[in-house]
Amino acid sequence: MDRFAAPPGYPLRSQSVRDCTGCGACCAAPDIHALRKPLGVPCPNLDEGCRCQIYVARPPVCRDYQPDWVCGEVAPLPTLQARTARFLEIYGLTGEAGRDRG
Ligand code: SF4
Ligand code: SF4
Repeated sequence: MDRFAAPPGYPLRSQSVRDCTGCGACCAAPDIHALRKPLGVPCPNLDEGCRCQIYVARPPVCRDYQPDWVCGEVAPLPTLQARTARFLEIYGLTGEAGRDRG
């Protein structure tokens, strides 16, 4: 199964991103228990450039994360706030995306 193939109903651009672009959305949108990170709040290890400041020592939950079709939905958006909001919207979640860094 192609994990970059979007479900029916999503626009073609969903398949245009087939690798991680470092957009930061997956470090901001989901809740990550291992980091005590709430839903919709950027990880404290994410810097202003959407780079992980502890990349070499990041926890297994981060190491195991794989880019997929959702990246194609969120990565093209212009701000981390917009990417986080779209990520949460796709999964039917609500968070504090309005408070994060743009
Ligand atoms: S959401 Fe996708 S493209 Fe963005 S940082 Fe995470 S894996 Fe990379
Ligand atoms: S520890 Fe690094 S890779 Fe993991 S969520 Fe935070 S910024 Fe992202």
